[in-house]
Amino acid sequence: MASVLIVGASRGIGLEWVRQARAAGDRVVATARDDEGLQRLRDLGAVALKLDVMNTASASGLAWQIDGYAFDQIALVAGVFGSRTTGMQTPSEVEFNTVMQTNVLGPMRVLPQLQDALAPGARIAIISSRMGSISLRSGSHGWLYRASKAAVNSVLKDASLLMQGKACCISFHPGWVRTDMGGADGDIDVQTSVAGMRTVMAGLSATDNGSFINYDGERLSW
Ligand code: NDP
Repeated sequence: MASVLIVGASRGIGLEWVRQARAAGDRVVATARDDEGLQRLRDLGAVALKLDVMNTASASGLAWQIDGYAFDQIALVAGVFGSRTTGMQTPSEVEFNTVMQTNVLGPMRVLPQLQDALAPGARIAIISSRMGSISLRSGSHGWLYRASKAAVNSVLKDASLLMQGKACCISFHPGWVRTDMGGADGDIDVQTSVAGMRTVMAGLSATDNGSFINYDGERLSW
């Protein structure tokens, strides 16, 4: 039985991760930012914590909320896409701040608070995106989202070095998943995506630290 923390679990990939971990008998702590999300987590038997990664006070309160826990697996899932623009449309300052604060500042707020809540051999995953890869770049939509996921890949890479020996840190592409964000045309359902990532997480070794990995285990280039 593993001890698992999922950040950003009110719906989509995060909620499915809680569902599968609970079905496997894991002890799960998970976060949401509104009462409906928190209730969904409690209904699945998770310990539900209120957390909005865009809110400084809320995000900085995570450390004391997880005081005493030692997690085997942690997934940072919370993310937003922003508007569906194509090409080089300059985002508004408000949109830039929302996407960057959620997708980049969020993990930068959460990661440091995890350091005293890790079990030996802990694994930490940021749910990034292949759209954040610079070498695999194709397509022209989501300029701001791509920038945010490229930035969070950098954050993950540094975290993997800074936490070396304490945790194996990886960045995931979850696939193009049929969720509110991914839409109905996505390649895979959320069950397949999460099952794949959970299998990859379970099989990680120290040499995987700092890797960028597809949900099916394929290694991706940054
Ligand atoms: P959803 O839109 O279905 O869910 C997004 C989740 O993030 C919700 O739980 C949402 O909570 C939470 N969230 C958003 N903003 C905040 C915040 N400020 N604080 C805390 N939680 C927040 O998206 P997916 O499940 O599809 O995506 C999950 C992750 O996977 C994201 O990081 C996304 O970028 C990534 N991803 C998804 C892909 C896909 O095809 N679906 C492809 C590649 C990457 P709330 O309900 O409160 O809004």
